Amino acid sequence: MTERRQTRQIMVGEVKVGGGAPISVQSMTTTRTADVEGTLAQVYALRGAGADIVRITCNDVDAAQGLAEIVPRSPVPIIADIHFQYRLALAALEAGVQGLRLNPGNIRNPDHIKAVAREASDRGVPIRVGVNAGSLDKDLLAKYGAPVPEALVDSALHEIGLLEEVGFTDIKISVKHSYVPSMVSAYRLLSERVDYPLHLGVTEAGPPPSGLIKSVAGIATLLLEGIGDTIRFSLTADPVEEAEAGRRLLEQLGLRERASLDLIACPSCGRAEVDVVAVATEAQRRLEAEQLPIQVAVMGCVVNGPGEAREADIGIAAGKSKGHLFIKGKVVRVVAEAEMVDALVEEARKLVAEGVEARLAAADELADRLAEEEAAELLAERGDANRTAARRASVAEVARGG
Ligand code: SF4
Repeated sequence: MTERRQTRQIMVGEVKVGGGAPISVQSMTTTRTADVEGTLAQVYALRGAGADIVRITCNDVDAAQGLAEIVPRSPVPIIADIHFQYRLALAALEAGVQGLRLNPGNIRNPDHIKAVAREASDRGVPIRVGVNAGSLDKDLLAKYGAPVPEALVDSALHEIGLLEEVGFTDIKISVKHSYVPSMVSAYRLLSERVDYPLHLGVTEAGPPPSGLIKSVAGIATLLLEGIGDTIRFSLTADPVEEAEAGRRLLEQLGLRERASLDLIACPSCGRAEVDVVAVATEAQRRLEAEQLPIQVAVMGCVVNGPGEAREADIGIAAGKSKGHLFIKGKVVRVVAEAEMVDALVEEARKLVAEGVEARLAAADELADRLAEEEAAELLAERGDANRTAARRASVAEVARGG
């Protein structure tokens, strides 16, 4: 990955954002904020799924009062989402929130924005300037004709200017668009103009799987360019799914330590000795329930399986009516096909409890040889899917000019 872009660091409660801090995951509750117990239950569920920061709407006085009860009991910092009424931003600050999100398209009076900034400054609370293509300032929409990336950036810069006028710099910014190429362009443009931390997201991404694909496409593209300090998937789904997706994306990009299972499986092919889809699905279901933070491989045949998946912590490859259990590419046990998933789960548990070295030392000495013999047998029976010998011969022939 390219180096991460250097940004200023802000604090959202105890969570550092920007300035080289780990990328944080955000999500937003869908409960009515006045329902304190219901909202808190969702905040806890989001934290459990991987959210570091949770946003809650503050859309009326009842919601602001709810925040006053929710914030002290929340396990993560709470950001109040403010649209239209600047007084609700002041009320949310009074309720003790650790962050505000203002939408420049919806709060347009400079005096109101400055009043909120002064109050936030006094309380040491950061503000996200949250520009959204769907609610862009009307004047900018008229100027640009459409919510193009330049218009989103213009909106953000204008709002930042107002905040900076009163000396407020405790800022992070988002310029969200529902069309991935526009979202990516907007953040790239913005990252050239400011060094404030950036909150990434594809707005109104919709339900999974397309919502997930859009979010991953936009967020991962930018993260791999070193752009972005905190992320949110905006899915039309249970927000727990959003938080989990965000966390998993960071894990897959190597930006967060793995806290969950990573199951890799071959796509299967004519050589497969078992129904790879069925075995992989069953293994995933059983191993996820165990909550083991390891990489597990399910491979359809012993000919290529253990070698191709040697980076996995543990895996299983099918042979003729058998399963070959391997750790770091070395076959440690051969089990009956019907016991493949049971054996995989049992060995995975032991691996996490005892470590790789101990489990390799406990390997069945015969297993590796049995696997090799079976692979050779299958090769002889079915032929070499990679046609290695034939390809080597034709390469040599071409080289010799024959
Ligand atoms: Fe095919 Fe075996 Fe590779 Fe799976 S591991 S794709 S079954 S060759």
